[in-house]
Amino acid sequence: MDAENSVYRRLQQHLDKHLPLRYPPAESEVEIRLLKHLFSSKEADLALYLGNLPQPLESIKQEMIKNGISIDNLEEKLDALVEKGAIKGKKLLIGEKAEKMFSLHQFSIGMYESQVDRLTKEYFEDAYEYFTGTFYKEFHRIDTPCQMRTIPVKRSVTADIHVNTYDDVKQLIEDCEGPISVINCICRTGMDLLDKPCAHTDLRETCIQLGPKAEVFIERGSARPITKEELFELLDEFEEDGLILQPENTQHPEVIHACCGDCCFNLTQVKRFARPAEFFASNYYVEVDPEKCRGCRTCTDRCQMQAVSLVERMAVVDLDLCSGCGNCVAYCLSKAIQLKKKEIEIIPPKDKLALNQKIMENK
Ligand code: SF4
Ligand code: SF4
Repeated sequence: MDAENSVYRRLQQHLDKHLPLRYPPAESEVEIRLLKHLFSSKEADLALYLGNLPQPLESIKQEMIKNGISIDNLEEKLDALVEKGAIKGKKLLIGEKAEKMFSLHQFSIGMYESQVDRLTKEYFEDAYEYFTGTFYKEFHRIDTPCQMRTIPVKRSVTADIHVNTYDDVKQLIEDCEGPISVINCICRTGMDLLDKPCAHTDLRETCIQLGPKAEVFIERGSARPITKEELFELLDEFEEDGLILQPENTQHPEVIHACCGDCCFNLTQVKRFARPAEFFASNYYVEVDPEKCRGCRTCTDRCQMQAVSLVERMAVVDLDLCSGCGNCVAYCLSKAIQLKKKEIEIIPPKDKLALNQKIMENK
C-alpha cells in the first residue's frame, strides 16, 4: 500500500474505532474512494486528531504539538473540512463563551447526507455501492438503537389512540421554539443523477430541520427557512404521496425525513432482512377489520414496505414488514384499516448524545 493510501486506511480505521457506527472496510475498497472524495491526503492526516465528541480548537492543536506536528491556519483548514461535510463543526457554549468545536462525522447519518448541495454522480455511485454492499449491516444492527424512528402520519391518528409527544408530528412542530428549515433529500437527488427519479413523489425538499439544527443550516446557507404553517402544508403533501415520516430517534428530534421505499438507503436496505419491522423504532402497527374492508387496494398501493396484500379480496397485513407509518390508514375510505399501539412502548433516548452513547455501549 503506498503512503497516500495508508493515510486513508488509517483514517478508515480511526473512524471505524471511534464513531458510534463503525466504518468497516469493503472488499472493493470503496470506503477509501469515499474518503478521497472529501479529504486530500493532508486533510485525512488532520482528521486523525479528531474524535467522536466535539473538541475545541486549542485542544486539537495541543494534541498535534504533543505529536510533533504544527499546522498553520488550523482553524481555516478545519473550517474547510466542515464546509465539505467531511467533519462536524459548531459553536458550543463553554461557560459564558461560545467556542468553535470540531469532531468526526459518521458516514451515515453524517458525511453522506452532507453532500446534498454538491452531490456528483461519482460520489453517489460510490455511496450507493458502500451502503448497499457493506454499510447497511452496520446501519441496521439488531442490538443497536436505530438512528431514525418511524412516527405515524397525522391523518392516521384517531382520538382513541394515546400518542406521546415524541410520536406526534403535529406536537413536535408546534413545540418547536426555534427556526424551521428544509433541504433536498440526498437519496432522491442521487437517484435523479442516475436517471431513476422517485416514483412516489415529485418533491425533493423532504428533509426538515427543527430548532438548533435549522439555525446551523440556515446560517450556513444550506437550508431554506420555512414557517410552521408552510411545514404543515408540506406535511399534507408528504401524506398525499404516502411518504414515511422518520425523525431522529430522540425525544426532541431536530430532523424529520419523509422517505420512500424506493429511494431511501435506510428503507430499501432494511427490506433485505427477514423481519424489517424489528429494525423500526415504532410504537404502532395496523390491523384490518374484515367486516369493513372492500378490497379496493388503496392500502396495498400506498404501502412503501409492501406489507399489505389482498387475500380473497381482503387486505391482510404482514406485521414483520409493517413500519407503523399509518399511510394506509390515512386513505382507507372504509376506515377498515386502523392504527394500533404496541403493548410495549419504545421510549426514545433523551437527546442525540444519549442516542450515540447507547449505540456506543452496544458497539
Ligand atoms: S384501503 Fe381499506 S378498504 Fe381498501 S383494501 Fe385497504 S383496508 Fe380494505
Ligand atoms: S401497512 Fe404499510 S402503509 Fe400501513 S402502516 Fe404498515 S408500513 Fe405503513
